[in-house]
Amino acid sequence: MLFNLISWFAPSQQDCPVCGRNASQASSPIVVPVKHAEPRRILTSLCGTCRKSIPWITHAICRICGRAESCEDCIRRQNRYYALSRCAVRYDPQMRDWLALYKYRGNEGLEAVLSAMLAFAYERLCEVTPSGFDVITSVPLAPERLRARGYNQAERLAIRLAEWYGLEYRPMLLRLRHTEKQSLKTRRSRVVDMRGNFAAVPTDLVSGTVLLVDDIYTTGSTLDECARVLTQAFPEASREVYGLLWARS
Ligand SMILES: [Zn+2]
Ligand SMILES: [Zn+2]
Repeated sequence: MLFNLISWFAPSQQDCPVCGRNASQASSPIVVPVKHAEPRRILTSLCGTCRKSIPWITHAICRICGRAESCEDCIRRQNRYYALSRCAVRYDPQMRDWLALYKYRGNEGLEAVLSAMLAFAYERLCEVTPSGFDVITSVPLAPERLRARGYNQAERLAIRLAEWYGLEYRPMLLRLRHTEKQSLKTRRSRVVDMRGNFAAVPTDLVSGTVLLVDDIYTTGSTLDECARVLTQAFPEASREVYGLLWARS
């Protein structure tokens, strides 16, 4: 951890923040698809191999959830509480490794890299929502998981994004109970199970556009349930929720 911090902050070092290899030897220039200078700088600090391996979702086939394939989930869903969502990358085995490295080691350099990748999805989402967002928030972790890990990765990514793009970060949701590991369940039970997991935090933002950040989009049921809770907290007001996710599984 200490070593990573030092290598991250020391400008003379050219080690890739993901794999630790020397990043200054990147031979051919690789396009960094983000406009903002700070996430660009972070993505440029990756070695060529890591940069090339990022499975960017450059074209959203599903115009609702931003998936790179046509999308049965969005067609099947009868009521949707979020307006739109966008994801930065496909959740392939490499991205699974990067997220695991960040989640379980709390690596600062990786946090910056994942945030910079999320910036790509943010800039894509802004292209289809030109009116922008009033506030940015994140999907909360269960309290026991938060205690075990010490931080909520979705919140950390959202706060970095807020700093870069001048958005206001605000916690707006609570997670009420711990659910079993989602991977152990079927798709159907996951969709049902999200009900009752979240509650809205009292806030003075009654109406407006909320940008909700999470790390992985699997079925969309977490995002949709959070959006339901946020919009129904003030049923008489117009509150729109947009989703922003680091990866689409
Ligand atoms: Zn690398
Ligand atoms: Zn979709």
